[in-house]
Amino acid sequence: MAGRVVVVSGPSGVGKGTVIRALLGRRPELFLSVSATTRPRRPDEVHGVHYRFLDDAAFDALARSGGLLEWADYAGRRYGTPAAPVMEATAAGADVLLEIEVQGAGQVRERCPGALLILIVPPSLDALAERLHRRGTEEPEHVAARLEAARRELAQAGLFDHVVVNDRLEDAVDELDRIIGASRR
Ligand code: ADP
Ligand code: 5GP
Repeated sequence: MAGRVVVVSGPSGVGKGTVIRALLGRRPELFLSVSATTRPRRPDEVHGVHYRFLDDAAFDALARSGGLLEWADYAGRRYGTPAAPVMEATAAGADVLLEIEVQGAGQVRERCPGALLILIVPPSLDALAERLHRRGTEEPEHVAARLEAARRELAQAGLFDHVVVNDRLEDAVDELDRIIGASRR
């Protein structure tokens, strides 16, 4: 049986990466897609592991050749999902997780009708702002752009099959695990 595409979306800083890491610990059979981006690498990130870091020309070439399943502009940078690894993994029967923002989730909804779309939301916008500040990976003006994007993203909840509140981390991981388990049957 072919695997499914599982989109985990939500505003920057909501805890997608943290929740997904915990989920992969429980479900090592899941395949995590590595996105391409034109954003600069953060010091703790590894090319090919966290992202494929591309310059604008290389990203354009990949997008123009039809190599991206979806892509979006986010906070002034581009991000996209390389299509080939997703197709190969699903054809081999693996479920593939895409950790992407909301515009990309909409494109996946159109291109992969069987995809499962999950939105992770914060308990409040104040909690989101605090997490983004505490993570400390962005300059203050970029934090503001991400919070602005968050308002737009949270307004798109109707696009998703499930909405999970990441208040207590363990509860959010339990719920995501349950949703993915239930939808396999
Ligand atoms: P995203 O991948 O959505 O941008 P991260 O996983 O990087 O978000 O999480 C942003 C920050 O919030 C991190 O510092 C992380 O440790 C913290 N965090 C994640 N989940 C929770 C939670 N349930 N409660 C409090 N802090 C959290
Ligand atoms: P960050 O710069 O914090 O790593 O990511 C910024 C936003 O881009 C996050 O919401 C993240 O989920 C999203 N993102 C990461 N990869 C992709 C991708 O391949 N496609 C899309 N549409 N969004 C992505």
